[in-house]
Amino acid sequence: MNEGRVQGKVAVVTGGARGIGAEIGAALAAQGATVVVADLAPAGDYTGRAAYRQVDVTSEESVRTAFDDIAAAYGRIDILVNNAGVTGPIKPAHEVEEKEFDFLFSVDVKGVWLATKHAVRHMLGTGGGSIVNMSSIYGLVGGARIPLYHAAKGAVRMMTKADAATYAKSGIRVNSVHPGSIETELSKSLSADPSPEAAAYAQRMLDSTPMGHRGSPRDIANGVLYLASDESRFVTGTELVIDGGYSAV
Ligand code: NAD
Repeated sequence: MNEGRVQGKVAVVTGGARGIGAEIGAALAAQGATVVVADLAPAGDYTGRAAYRQVDVTSEESVRTAFDDIAAAYGRIDILVNNAGVTGPIKPAHEVEEKEFDFLFSVDVKGVWLATKHAVRHMLGTGGGSIVNMSSIYGLVGGARIPLYHAAKGAVRMMTKADAATYAKSGIRVNSVHPGSIETELSKSLSADPSPEAAAYAQRMLDSTPMGHRGSPRDIANGVLYLASDESRFVTGTELVIDGGYSAV
């Protein structure tokens, strides 16, 4: 029998309506998982996935009810992909407003914690699972343009390691993925800035990538698939960098 790599598993992908998350959902579904797309957007393309659920990862009530409903409908949650994220203000730290800081951290950091919290409650009852947190190469190195995004993605990297240590004996693995520059609406919004600084930044980004081009959402989905599946059963607390060599030089 030719079974899929995540056959029979129930997966939730936050921010799964578009971009990298949409590709992750499609890849998991193609390999046999029952995938629920959980996104702030009211509806999106979820062809091939089992269901679409509107969720705001910054709200505990929204996350708790969604995850309880998903576990009730499908019996379990085996895979959580914490992919929802925003880049926040393109400003140096001294120009950022308090509300901009709070918004960025509520999506990128609190959102990962809340979804983890409510998925883990169910995973503990069914013997384990795999959590994949979307960080970034910007969670590994600093940079001058979006400093708070670096800080938030660094927090995601470390939350991953702490949760990996905490839940290893409960059969829950937790790993982070660190994409380089990937073609999506999010990266387009960063390069839509018409200023010469933005153009220079985009060029520097490509110049710093040994492979010389951006990645595709599929490149990230392939890595998530490995971490979500039992192929990575001895892997927890690791950071999978998928960046065309950006962080190697
Ligand atoms: P995107 O903007 O195309 O998609 C993000 C999705 O998250 C959207 O569907 C959006 O509706 C959803 N979302 C936003 N806030 C939400 C909330 N409060 N609750 C639920 N869903 C919410 O972004 P993308 O480029 O596909 O990025 C996905 C992830 O990958 C993000 O965490 C991002 O930081 C990370 N990442 C992206 C790149 C890149 O180059 N695109 C590089 C490194 C890391």
